[in-house]
Amino acid sequence: MAGIDRDERKWKPAMVGFPFDENSSYLQGAAAAPPLIRSALFSEASNLWSENGTDLGGDSVIVEAGDLVALPGKDLFAQIEASILRLLDRELRPIALGGDHAITYPVIRAVAKRYPALTILDFDAHPDLYDEFQGSRISHACPFARVMEERLARRLVQVGIRTMNGDQRRQVERFGIEVIEMKDWHGALPGLESPVYVSIDLDALDPAFAPGVAHREPGGLSVREVLNAIQGLRAQVVGADIVEFNPSLDPLGITAVVGAKILKEIAAKMLETASAARQGDA
Ligand code: MN
Ligand code: MN
Repeated sequence: MAGIDRDERKWKPAMVGFPFDENSSYLQGAAAAPPLIRSALFSEASNLWSENGTDLGGDSVIVEAGDLVALPGKDLFAQIEASILRLLDRELRPIALGGDHAITYPVIRAVAKRYPALTILDFDAHPDLYDEFQGSRISHACPFARVMEERLARRLVQVGIRTMNGDQRRQVERFGIEVIEMKDWHGALPGLESPVYVSIDLDALDPAFAPGVAHREPGGLSVREVLNAIQGLRAQVVGADIVEFNPSLDPLGITAVVGAKILKEIAAKMLETASAARQGDA
């Protein structure tokens, strides 16, 4: 029986905030996001049930790992990577709350150490594939160039892209990235193999749904389309992030609620696929 108890604690989602936006190229403000996503998640305006009938409000169904307090004078990315590794060592499935999209690179570095041959499913208006942007190689415009250079993923599938330029298209070719540009999106993802990491840049959504982002790009995904895509995943989701929410541009608090809703469905999907894997183990 002890074995069963231990198994049930295994692979729970764990939320951790990375309140950093110094690698944003245009506007800062995303550092203030994590507590607002958390308070939207726990707000009495809604409940903690996912649409598939999972009650996330039960006793520590979602592990709360707080926000990383960065030690000055030490490499920020190394600290982010270490904090994700600590969660993975506890057999949890991290959901990182940005911050800007730059945090995704150290988060994926950690996840890839435990889960080689990752498939990354990235929702974004932007490919974030610049080799360098405004003199920085760790800009929020670059994370997937670093991820692919270091071969941290077997596959990168990007959805919602609508700002591709020549430089980034060359990077797509170079790294063999599967891009579903917004103009070609008909609601269907390709088949994805386990383990999967999901990255949600909230500007993938149309700014009508999620205005609280620094780089508003019209013509994007609806909230429903993102939820359907997450709910349709059959592979193990072993890690995720929700990034680029900028509360200073979200006067009605809409984007916070959207971030919390997506978080709920990702957490439920992690639990569902973990339970399927446990049954497979048995
Ligand atoms: Mn991005
Ligand atoms: Mn973006």
